[in-house]
Amino acid sequence: MSSPNQHIIPRDQHSVSRDFISENALKVLYRLHKGGYEAFLVGGGVRDILLGLRPKDFDIATNATPEQIKKLFRNCRIIGRRFRLAHILYGRDVIEVATFRAHCDDNIEQRGDGMIVRDNVYGTVEEDAIRRDFTVNALYYNIADFSIHDYCGGLEDLEKRQLKMIGDPIERYKEDPVRMLRAVRLGCKLNLTIEENTAKPINEMAHLLEGIPAARLWEEYKKMFLSGKGQRTFNQLKSFGLLPYLFPETVKAINEDDDFAEFVTLALENTDRRISQDKSINPAFLLAVMLWKPLMERTDRLVNKGMHFNDAFYKNFNTTINKQTQTVSIMKRYGAVMQDIWALQVRLKFNHGKRVWSVFDHPRFRAGYDFLLLRSEVDPSLKPLADWWTQFQEVGREQRVKMLSQNKPQGKKRRTRKRKPRSNA
Ligand code: ATP
Ligand code: MG
Repeated sequence: MSSPNQHIIPRDQHSVSRDFISENALKVLYRLHKGGYEAFLVGGGVRDILLGLRPKDFDIATNATPEQIKKLFRNCRIIGRRFRLAHILYGRDVIEVATFRAHCDDNIEQRGDGMIVRDNVYGTVEEDAIRRDFTVNALYYNIADFSIHDYCGGLEDLEKRQLKMIGDPIERYKEDPVRMLRAVRLGCKLNLTIEENTAKPINEMAHLLEGIPAARLWEEYKKMFLSGKGQRTFNQLKSFGLLPYLFPETVKAINEDDDFAEFVTLALENTDRRISQDKSINPAFLLAVMLWKPLMERTDRLVNKGMHFNDAFYKNFNTTINKQTQTVSIMKRYGAVMQDIWALQVRLKFNHGKRVWSVFDHPRFRAGYDFLLLRSEVDPSLKPLADWWTQFQEVGREQRVKMLSQNKPQGKKRRTRKRKPRSNA
């Protein structure tokens, strides 16, 4: 029997089942429902289950206000200014619960250029659906009867494997330019084609990203590059003309230098591979790669003016990071990791003497070595050094000592420096 409402798909006609939803998300859904409220799983959670993927997180939408949600849950925290949201905390697992919001002109606060700065006016589930970004993100799984509510044609688009903006893409990008990044990110992550009208305006509107706070772009950076599809996302961002608004100096350097472009590609591939193998990744590594050439160019400029290489090199760490921070912010602790990785490139040059041990014991040794290895793939002159360090790690301590004794420093002997100065000199 079909539903009288064409937007509601009953439980036996779709593939979302509670087995695929986390225990904590189910707990929240049930408690809201028992409290007399409407409660739906929405967004990436429903979309990913329908695509046969494991959702990264579970977002919940309800008609309960944040205050009403807080009354139901002891472990609840209200966050956000532009959007007030409830976070239900189960240890480290956070379930985000949002109250349905309406998207109509009288209710939202827009700046002169159309960008939304505040929209905290509550609405119905139907209104909530149309203010979401893509149709496939506007599917609601109802805990009351396990049906799916589809007000924007998301199920059809999932079948067509396309990512389509709800409403007029141009207006929706004006309201929130980050949606352009989300289109590229989700298209790559889910292997969906960006629908023609959704894709078309992006190139011309890319510059609107200039108005987005660097901290928000940092959040997007992490999602774009640290979820296993970094390389594809990078290329797409480039062809949509979005990349210069995220990494201006990197784009310039890539366009001028094929070897550097190759270096960045290798790092992106490497990161994607590590993620697919469930290995740890630090968001700083890729940034250290992307800013390597801008750092070296600054260094060269000072060297040409007569400064010693090392002085010029270290001096430009902060300048290079600070410049990047103007578009995509970099938290201090990641900046520190980048600096460590860069500094290690100088220290790894010395594969002889006692200094080798302190480099080897450095907490960032592995990242520094990985960085050198990648550099050696585009610069063959670094290959012997990279191979030496590879071998140094693979052998036992005795062999290491032997490797060092074979690798005597060349040039000046240090012992002469240790002599006491003559008293009557
Ligand atoms: P992911 O798998 O990366 O979590 P997601 O689509 O769930 O993807 P979230 O950032 O978790 O992304 O957002 C949850 C939902 O909130 C989205 O599916 C979408 O419905 C809505 N949403 C998020 N960002 C926007 C935006 N900028 N404009 C409109 N709706 C948005
Ligand atoms: Mg999500």
